[in-house]
Amino acid sequence: METLVEKASVLIEALPYIRAFSGKTIVIKYGGSAMEDETLKHNVMQDIVLMKYVGMNPVIVHGGGPQISDMMKRMGKEAEFIQGLRVTDRETVDIAEMVLAGKINKEIVLLINQHGGEAVGLCGKDANLIQAQKHFAKVTSANGEQIMADIGFVGDVTQVNPKIIQVLEEEGFIPVIAPNGVGEDGQTYNINADTVAGEIAGALHAEKLILLTDVRGILRDKDDEDSLISTLPLVEIDELVKTGVISTGMLPKVESCITALKAGVTKTHIIDGRISHSLLLEIFTERGIGTEIVDEGQEG
Ligand code: ADP
Ligand code: MG
Repeated sequence: METLVEKASVLIEALPYIRAFSGKTIVIKYGGSAMEDETLKHNVMQDIVLMKYVGMNPVIVHGGGPQISDMMKRMGKEAEFIQGLRVTDRETVDIAEMVLAGKINKEIVLLINQHGGEAVGLCGKDANLIQAQKHFAKVTSANGEQIMADIGFVGDVTQVNPKIIQVLEEEGFIPVIAPNGVGEDGQTYNINADTVAGEIAGALHAEKLILLTDVRGILRDKDDEDSLISTLPLVEIDELVKTGVISTGMLPKVESCITALKAGVTKTHIIDGRISHSLLLEIFTERGIGTEIVDEGQEG
């Protein structure tokens, strides 16, 4: 009997969250272990389908870094990163598009559908979803000067045309987005998936942005998983970036959260995708997990 009561109370605990988020858009950046481990993969898909069935509108933006690096290796190319962004030459931008929009996107669509959802795969080119321009990385040269480095066909988002996503949401479909974009000249750009997720969340005025990754969240000390920062006010980010606490792959994540918050998204979360059903835990329980970045000025 005890366990039945416990089961009922778990469901009841979810009620306020179902009420609060029903009809709201939640953008999820899917990547890391949650995309590689078979069990975690299915857990995430179940979470997404459940969200949809209780009335939320999940929108998925996926990464695929390791798979791109794998394919590059098979083609005899070495992956290189500057500030967490992939150096992308002409061949690499093609490889990235094939792997992201061709393979990974369709795998995710299939998985969601197998779990009872109706997913539709898109990339930045579909219905002009993501317009982009060349990104230059700010790096410090050997003599200490700040220079703008050319890292190839890496894009910044210049505009999002979210109409196709809204149409799909309204008709009950789950949009799954591969992170590339197109320049005015028709050039394809590879864009960091965190960056795309933040821009999409902003353009959709989403309720939440959730970034799944392979660490507990933002750590004060990268080597100490117990140094998790649970809540980070927007105004404190600058200092953490300047002092190097936040670096490499975490940089596009915090920038993504900043973009989303400034565009009116209520809350942004960086959570541990290595935990089973981390999405459900974040959305449907009181405690939440990982790091939430909030704009306190906006909330108060
Ligand atoms: P993803 O596939 O989720 O985008 P990334 O490797 O691009 O993963 O980004 C996450 C990585 O960012 C972590 O594994 C860690 O090495 C790095 N990182 C940099 N600064 C921090 C920090 N303050 N807290 C946690 N991770 C950090
Ligand atoms: Mg990354």
